Amino acid sequence: MNKPLILVVEDDSAIRNLITTTLEMHDYRFHTAPAGSAAIVEASSHNPDIVLLDLGLPDMDGVEIIKKIRTWSNMPIIVISARSEDSDKINALDAGADDYLTKPFSVEELLARLRVTLRRLNAMQSKAGTNEQSVFINGDLKIDYAAGCVYMCGEELHVTPIEYKLLCLLAKNIGKVLTHTFITKEIWGSTWENDVASLRVFMAALRKKMEKASSSRQYIQTHIGVGYRMLKLE
Ligand code: CA
Repeated sequence: MNKPLILVVEDDSAIRNLITTTLEMHDYRFHTAPAGSAAIVEASSHNPDIVLLDLGLPDMDGVEIIKKIRTWSNMPIIVISARSEDSDKINALDAGADDYLTKPFSVEELLARLRVTLRRLNAMQSKAGTNEQSVFINGDLKIDYAAGCVYMCGEELHVTPIEYKLLCLLAKNIGKVLTHTFITKEIWGSTWENDVASLRVFMAALRKKMEKASSSRQYIQTHIGVGYRMLKLE
């Protein structure tokens, strides 16, 4: 594989330099953008493998950039922001960000997030090339892995990238209880307390959407203090 190309969107030159130095040392290629408008131009002209995105930019809010990129691309976007409120995190993830890193962050943490994201990207690309079962069906739930779409009772269910990943993980392990630690490790590559707290928020949102679209049929069971399980339905 060629060296992965990372787009670094950050207006603070000290942080930008820290990130690009780290990337350079670990065999990544990069482009940089100090503002939102430049970020959109770079993202569309270079099609990076991953975008590292600061939310507080001089010309526009990072969430707007996520929304714009999502109109044409599923490229992974990792938000790096000083905003630590849950609501900020959820806004960015709802807009389509794949992951979130709170400033100040450690270089190791950044590298771990990049590795997990790349692994997932590679797994998706190699799967797209095989004839492996590409549709999952359970009751009225259907996941089209190739298209990355979810359907409930024949209607498309709109889920965020994180919700989609959670759903696929549960589907692949249908019938089994997955622990919080296992899930956060698979989704975020870590088991930080923070991620376990976010997991509860995402699971609650996902379950609500699924139940609303299926006349309250239960697909995901919560095992309090342990984890979650997808139930097998007729
Ligand atoms: Ca900033």
